[in-house]
Amino acid sequence: MAHKKVIRNGRVIDPSQGIDRLADVLIEDGKIVEVTNAPLESIAEDHEVIDASGLVVSPGFVDLHTHLRDPGFEWKETIESGTKAAARGGFTTVCAMPNTDPCQDSAAVIEDVTRRSLTGAAVRVLPIGAITKGRHGKVLSPMGELAEVGAIGFSDDGDPVSDANIMRQALTYATGLGLPIINHAEVHSLVHGGVMNEGPVATRLGLPPVPASAEAVMIARDIELAALTGGRLHVPHVSTAAGVELVRAAKSRGLDVTAEVTPHHLTLDDTWVYGLHGEVPDAVPAVAYDTNTKVNPPLRSVADVAAVRAALADGTIDIIATDHAPHAATDKVCTYDEAAHGINVLETAFGQVMQLVHQDLISLSDLIDPLTAAPARILGRNFGTLAAGSNADIALLDIDSEWTVSADDFASLSRNTPLEGVQLKGRVVETLFAGESVWRSDRLEQPAS
Ligand SMILES: [Zn+2]
Repeated sequence: MAHKKVIRNGRVIDPSQGIDRLADVLIEDGKIVEVTNAPLESIAEDHEVIDASGLVVSPGFVDLHTHLRDPGFEWKETIESGTKAAARGGFTTVCAMPNTDPCQDSAAVIEDVTRRSLTGAAVRVLPIGAITKGRHGKVLSPMGELAEVGAIGFSDDGDPVSDANIMRQALTYATGLGLPIINHAEVHSLVHGGVMNEGPVATRLGLPPVPASAEAVMIARDIELAALTGGRLHVPHVSTAAGVELVRAAKSRGLDVTAEVTPHHLTLDDTWVYGLHGEVPDAVPAVAYDTNTKVNPPLRSVADVAAVRAALADGTIDIIATDHAPHAATDKVCTYDEAAHGINVLETAFGQVMQLVHQDLISLSDLIDPLTAAPARILGRNFGTLAAGSNADIALLDIDSEWTVSADDFASLSRNTPLEGVQLKGRVVETLFAGESVWRSDRLEQPAS
């Protein structure tokens, strides 16, 4: 007998179809049957009922930028733990960055990740192939072969493709394959040993600074190469006002350029480096910083945060991607210089970005679009939608629920969040992948208060 479910009485928001209304969602055999026009009067008895009263029913989130660390760094994260973390965060599709060991620069490694994901992942894993062999930036990877076995784009993320001619070739080949090049936008020589954003906080802490131009110069170069080749350029983790302006100008030229922003660059500025949750101390204390704020690109100035927020709201930035970058405690219990770059994001992402809705900077539907339909469009895949016939990948959201971040509760193997103890407003209550529950919080079990 067919397995039928109905999600009842929720506020269904599906930007792919322009839906934002009270409705029921009917599911059969893991697929969406329909989003009804209004909550149904009665439901046939053969349906399992999920009561979504008071909740938002969204397509499952699609993350174009996830570091699963598998193969090679399984003490930080695995396909299994990373996708469990994704499920808790409402994500039903994650795109796995290739800076693994071995890196995803050969068909064999891509096939291995795909094969292990089919049995060991809680949600869908789509691999990203390396642009260059070994991510060394010298010789192109066999991009055609990687695409054939399922790579959804190419990136050397963690490092840029510094050689402009290699980048030109990569854009040319990827265009023939219809796939985007995602180039980590950073000029190494401008970083020059810097560890945090250039500005008064870095000066006060005596930490070597990274100028905003380290990002902007690379974005500018890549946009010109996209213009030269007609290639598809996706700019990851835009963090600066200058970067935003370049993307805006590229779009107005009609270039095939898209961009993403992370939850942390949308919500945290460089004062968070002090480790006081955005408070600025009168005197620098004995423990002067929190290494969990060290990330690449770095947390930026208040003005940069305002710029990326505005760019998301006006559509200059297309999507929200997590850049989930789990690290073990040993990578962070050290000096700021020595600490690894990266923040553990999947499980806090929704609560973080909901800040923009609660502050009336963006509508809920306009926040869900860059988490669902917009990344699916970049992938050219039928995800991030509740359209009839699509996979029943769904996130149930309580947008007003307040909760306190406790990394000990993470499904991720790592704990590197600067948000420990911070209260967020908005949480993922349940996640369904292909119609099956892959995460359910206590919230649904508790009687309504
Ligand atoms: Zn990157």
